[in-house]
Amino acid sequence: MAQQPATNAIDGGLPAASDKIPVGLSTCLSGQPVRFNGSHSRSKLCLDTLAQYFDFKTFCPEQAAGFGTPRPAMRLSADPVNPRLIFSDSSKGQQDLTEQLQRGFQNELRFAERLDGYILMKNSPSCGLERVKVYRDNGYPFTEKSPGLFTKALQERYPLLPLEEEGRLHDAALCENFILRVYAHANFRNEVLAQPSYGKLVAFHSSYKFVLMAHSQASYQSLGRFLATAHEQPLQTTLDEYFPQLMAALAKPAKRKGHTNTMLHLLGFLKNSVDGTSRQHIVETIHKYREGGIPLITPITLLRHYIDQKGSAYVQAQRYWQPYPESLGLRNRL
Ligand code: SF4
Repeated sequence: MAQQPATNAIDGGLPAASDKIPVGLSTCLSGQPVRFNGSHSRSKLCLDTLAQYFDFKTFCPEQAAGFGTPRPAMRLSADPVNPRLIFSDSSKGQQDLTEQLQRGFQNELRFAERLDGYILMKNSPSCGLERVKVYRDNGYPFTEKSPGLFTKALQERYPLLPLEEEGRLHDAALCENFILRVYAHANFRNEVLAQPSYGKLVAFHSSYKFVLMAHSQASYQSLGRFLATAHEQPLQTTLDEYFPQLMAALAKPAKRKGHTNTMLHLLGFLKNSVDGTSRQHIVETIHKYREGGIPLITPITLLRHYIDQKGSAYVQAQRYWQPYPESLGLRNRL
């Protein structure tokens, strides 16, 4: 079970080593020379930045399956829905390598139960996330693409585990969204699943209310209604229904419109405690953000300044203020 990762995230500091979140990583991204040609694809982002927050657990499915390094290049073939793994060069033989690969990653599939996210190498027939080419017998690719076979097995076994390709993490919105989901996954495991109760579920949901609102007003309302009557059914049933809905709502980056509505809603909590001129200044700053003139961090910081001074404990405790460590600087780029 992952440890609570963000104890000192409140002040923007780095987590202690034992508090880092366990996240899987394609081994070649860690700089180890395990690619088919003996090279690596070291990720500066993962190793120099994210490793300060994530405890990376590296895994190479092709090595685990005993293909060795260097090895002949492999590719997916035959059927985009149920692709098979073969050598790219037919002179190396046309045997089906799928089951050898699958046997190699069975242990890692079990181990992934302890992870809160997985960062994968793009385009690989084993590790690619969703746009891996699948080839016909005549050598031309199908229009339809597939995940790599290891990633496909991960998705099927852990449909709520946040997965992302390293390349896509260089997009600010996708990176922020992945990290937000990793923290939500870890927090749910630590704060609710470790010792489940209705009270812990309600406290968890309460802390994520405005994160949820920024992503999806509809999910914010429907999950609120769902939890209002949740105690009428067995706890396990409630947990099984709640978490997939939450992760589905967080699956895409929140838009400027969603953040704008959420911040204006939060401003409503200051109606009786902050003077009109100051509130008007906050509104103007929020609208500048909405129009794309300033990053999200600017109105959030301004609003939080007043909430910290005049807001209720309930609003101050919202994870919306800091759904991941501030030192990541993710909201500077949104
Ligand atoms: S992409 Fe996956 S299978 Fe290929 S070298 Fe990297 S970790 Fe190994």
